[in-house]
Amino acid sequence: MCSHFIKAVFMSATEHVHCLIIGSGPAGYTAAIYAARANLKPLMYTGLQQGGQLMNTTDVENYPGYPKGIMGPEMMEDFKKQAERFGTDIRFGMATKVDFSTNPKKVWIDGEKLVEADAVIIATGAEAKWLGLPSEQRLNGSGVSACAVCDGFFYRNSEVAIVGAGDTACEEALYLSKLCNTVHMLVRRDEMRASKIMQERVLKTPNIKVYWNTETEEVLGETVVEAIRVRNNKTNETTDIPVKGFFVAIGHQPNSKVFKDFLHTDSEEYLITAPNSTKTNVEGVFACGDVQDKVFRQAVTAAGTGCMAALEAERWLSEQE
Ligand code: NDP
Repeated sequence: MCSHFIKAVFMSATEHVHCLIIGSGPAGYTAAIYAARANLKPLMYTGLQQGGQLMNTTDVENYPGYPKGIMGPEMMEDFKKQAERFGTDIRFGMATKVDFSTNPKKVWIDGEKLVEADAVIIATGAEAKWLGLPSEQRLNGSGVSACAVCDGFFYRNSEVAIVGAGDTACEEALYLSKLCNTVHMLVRRDEMRASKIMQERVLKTPNIKVYWNTETEEVLGETVVEAIRVRNNKTNETTDIPVKGFFVAIGHQPNSKVFKDFLHTDSEEYLITAPNSTKTNVEGVFACGDVQDKVFRQAVTAAGTGCMAALEAERWLSEQE
């Protein structure tokens, strides 16, 4: 038998598992650790970016247990090893289609393989939205960041800029104002989208300088961010502002599309879970981490909800027996 044929047979074979985890960030790996230790023999499909958003992060200094800080990819390798230690079956692959109308639930991987699962834990995360400038991409991690809480500390007593005018941008600008000399906040319209209270706080903070009707043209710097070039879209005047850090806070996109025919989402496509729970509207399907959290979005909170999802899945599975 040729190897292609064997591979095709293997890929198309349906597999049944007790607990399927989709996604491999802090939420997915924590769910895996708890599910494996509860003997649920979890199968995890990692998604394209194994380890999730932390794979794009350099130093993580706010995750408890690492007093000296740790690199994001190294931390995720530790999470993975811990999940494997208790027997999680970790495989590379993307969930491309689901059918949650039946029990067991059906999940297709990479458009080929069908996995049937009694319980499904969704931990597919979210992605920061970016402006789409090549210079922003080139200097990502070298001054460009989408997380002030993660990276603000590196720009203590420096000049930084932040783009965005929603609650996240306001919250992050306020956070940065406590660390940095000046926070240059770039707002593309003549008003902010953020809640009134957040806007007021920002406008009352002396070291946050708001630039209205202002768009970012370019992030300047060879190997690290040195300045940004901005343009006033009313006057067309361009200005270079020297900064060391450039924070993009223009929203996140949860990775929920594949589930939207079966699971309830809010207006921004975040999966909706019951209060104080990871239960979705489909029994036996749980959601944890950034795909259902638009407020906190921290590794430690994602890990917390990952733990909750595994405990709730375990409870739900025992009720079915
Ligand atoms: P939002 O979608 O609310 O805001 C995005 C902001 O980015 C808008 O001001 C938008 O401008 C701006 N923006 C988008 N694209 C660009 C671009 N290309 N260039 C410049 N600016 C751009 O996202 P948030 O992450 O702020 O918030 C998401 C949700 O989470 C909201 O519902 C928010 O209320 C909630 N949230 C709640 C918090 C809390 O309760 N503590 C904390 C953080 C978030 P424009 O207005 O012109 O479209």
